[in-house]
Amino acid sequence: MKKTYLMTPGPTPVPPKALLAMAEPIIHHRTPEFMEVFKEVCDLLKYVFQTQGDVITFTSSGTGAMEAAVANLLSPGDKAICVQGGKFGERWTELCKAYGATPIIIDVKWGNAVDPKVIEAELKKDAAIQAVFTTLCETSTGVLTDIKAIAQITKDHNAVLVVDAISGLGAEEIKTDEWGIDCVVSGSQKGLMIPPGLAFISLSKKAWEKVEKSKCPKYYFSLKKAKKAIESTDTPFTPAITLVIGLRETLRTMKAEGLDVVFARHKKLALATREAMKAMGLSLFAPAAPSNGVTAVNVPAGVDGEKLVKHMRDKYGVGIAGGQAELKGKVFRIAHMGYITETDILTTIAVLGMALAEMGYRGQPGVGVEAAEEILLEGRSRGPVEPA
Ligand SMILES: *Cc1c(COP(=O)(O)O)cnc(C)c1O
Repeated sequence: MKKTYLMTPGPTPVPPKALLAMAEPIIHHRTPEFMEVFKEVCDLLKYVFQTQGDVITFTSSGTGAMEAAVANLLSPGDKAICVQGGKFGERWTELCKAYGATPIIIDVKWGNAVDPKVIEAELKKDAAIQAVFTTLCETSTGVLTDIKAIAQITKDHNAVLVVDAISGLGAEEIKTDEWGIDCVVSGSQKGLMIPPGLAFISLSKKAWEKVEKSKCPKYYFSLKKAKKAIESTDTPFTPAITLVIGLRETLRTMKAEGLDVVFARHKKLALATREAMKAMGLSLFAPAAPSNGVTAVNVPAGVDGEKLVKHMRDKYGVGIAGGQAELKGKVFRIAHMGYITETDILTTIAVLGMALAEMGYRGQPGVGVEAAEEILLEGRSRGPVEPA
């Protein structure tokens, strides 16, 4: 018998309510029935993106919305800053190159967050820079970027601020309109708790002006086409109807709970996870700027990182993520985003302790759970032993 726990930073578990909604017979998209669903989803997306502007939905994985941002905001030869502190930051550079734009790369040591002043200095040097591409939560390293501070800088420049919030949205605070972020992209399979297949993008007035001038080639990912369609609650092509129907359920839940509560929940789970790791004698990969969506942990000396991930999945059914690219085998990542509860986190920490013990790591398996409980109980575990 096997029971599985999906603790990876995408895909993430899907709540039963959404699964059931998606099990209903398929409906046609050009019908009042679907239009009603899509209208509600568009409104709820504005709530989650914290914007008054339209949020456009594409049928693609999250990278589709990243590609849409580059292809619709830039023209060949344009200069754009790409903040690179992990695998997903590098994707911005690759996309810019693919569309003939010139990336100005700001390399950040993996595990650290970019210093907004470095972006400011680059922008001051060259008024022709059209965009600044950043990542809210760099999923490969577990780093959270100070987007609010960067938005303070870009608002006084010609460049638009573009944020990859694919794993960040729904886990981290991001006030699109209030902070003045020009473009936010996201995907369905992380904090929004739906299977992969939907990508989202929001644009400010400043960003739409750039879209008007953009000369990069585009067809499926044309934002102008998508905007025209969304004005009559429609999509240019067949949407992933089933996923949109499921998304209505998860977005409704987020709205009912309230974003503040959603963020506080993520924060607590992240803190519990970090404290557990430290108590177990493990070190965090990004201690200075940790995200609330995913925690990256250094694999301790003497333990095979890839075997650890495999062992937890095969023996215990707990799926965590290993390291990507240069971090392969060097870190493991525990996600606490979306439909993840305190019970899931406690289970994961307990299993990690056991798996490490089985792999020869010299640490006490139970101390992680104890440290996490301390956070989850908000200190109450230190209370009197006798009943109050
Ligand atoms: C998952 C992720 C992506 C890629 O999304 P896909 O859905 O795999 O295309 C991009 N950026 C970040 C930060 C992510 O976490």
